[in-house]
Amino acid sequence: VQIAIRLQECLRDEDTIARLGGDEFTVLLQDLRSMDTVLDVTNRIVLALAQPIQLDHGETVAMASIGIAYSEKGLEPAESLLRDADTAMYAAKARGKSGYAIFDPAMNAEVVERMQLEVGMRQALEGNQFSLEYQPIVDLSSGDITGIEALLRWEHPERGRITPDKFIPVAEDSGLIIPIGAWVLRESCLRFRELREQFTLDDNFHLSVNVSGRQLQRPNIVDQIRTILEETHMDPASLKLEVTESVLVRDEVAAVEKLHQLKALGIKIAIDDFGTGYSSLSTLNSYPVDVVKIDRTFIGRMGQDEEVDAIVGAIVLLSRVMHLEVTAEGIETRQQVQYLQAFGCTSAQGFYFCRPMPFDKLCKKFSEGMNLSVKLEAEATGILNPMLAA
Ligand code: C2E
Ligand code: CA
Ligand code: CA
Repeated sequence: VQIAIRLQECLRDEDTIARLGGDEFTVLLQDLRSMDTVLDVTNRIVLALAQPIQLDHGETVAMASIGIAYSEKGLEPAESLLRDADTAMYAAKARGKSGYAIFDPAMNAEVVERMQLEVGMRQALEGNQFSLEYQPIVDLSSGDITGIEALLRWEHPERGRITPDKFIPVAEDSGLIIPIGAWVLRESCLRFRELREQFTLDDNFHLSVNVSGRQLQRPNIVDQIRTILEETHMDPASLKLEVTESVLVRDEVAAVEKLHQLKALGIKIAIDDFGTGYSSLSTLNSYPVDVVKIDRTFIGRMGQDEEVDAIVGAIVLLSRVMHLEVTAEGIETRQQVQYLQAFGCTSAQGFYFCRPMPFDKLCKKFSEGMNLSVKLEAEATGILNPMLAA
């Protein structure tokens, strides 16, 4: 009601305002002389909504994603204007938080794609279309496999495999990452336990699971994670949760507080994609972090760019001084291994060692002798396991 009143105050008497349903309002501005007027009204609305709203139990701030569609000659049917405004609103929403977007025919394809992904993911959760693959993490000095990272896979019934880079952002925007993330944690913990029961694993052997910043914003996320660990009999000490560096940089106090609570449960925290989020190394030890994962864009450019070499060397060195573990991601060549060993990096992950694989295949590898207490077969460089390379 308060928002409806505020919207009304932003308009002229002859303008029309309607609540279309849920949290959607529509404004019709007629007989305008220029587009500037529309933008003036838009800005007025954004400002009006930025003021906190008083509720019985405190205050809140509403945010609006505004989609604008216009008709120059006024000949378009109302339905198509409404549809275009709706499309533009989704585009504004996708850009995040408060803001507006003006309809552009190219938007349709993008918005339709996002909506299809969103609808598809809801069905995927119910229809068992999600699965996990696991990629081993290798100790660079001993060749031991020290853990596995769970990576989400989506097999779409018509479109085939859709990569996480495509669907995770949509899952984050739509909030679907919450149930999906819970599924990933539960499923990977169950599999981890199976692995434990079938093979003799080193005590330090761990499971890494990716957690989105959006999950950390949930007030009850710590309880939810604790419950999943209890139900799956997962030892918190064997779990590493990976969060991207941007979660720390955006200074999300609440998210960092959640990381402290998770750490208090005995879970280890890894900073993923390190080096891409512009955080400063010197602030690392003020965060509840145990592991630094150097982003694969750096690893890929090692040996070609002196600056990149220096950055990787510095990340390894400083992490060690701060008693943090360092894992290099995306190792594809033996030369990269040699560089990392020379820098003193102790742990790595990448196609050079092993691609992510389904659980069955992982078990097969283990039973074929990739027993984790056994050192990897040494090559001249001392690390490549011929079994893994296949
Ligand atoms: P990430 O956490 O950085 O995961 C590592 C990605 O690097 C994986 O891509 C993996 O397949 C790929 N990779 C591993 N070794 C190599 C290599 O040697 N070369 C190259 N070029 N790539 C390598 P993937 O599986 O496509 O996942 C992409 C991203 O999607 C992940 O990046 C992560 O941010 C996100 N993601 C995956 N699963 C989940 C999940 O369950 N939850 C959340 N929130 N995010 C996930
Ligand atoms: Ca990761
Ligand atoms: Ca990464």
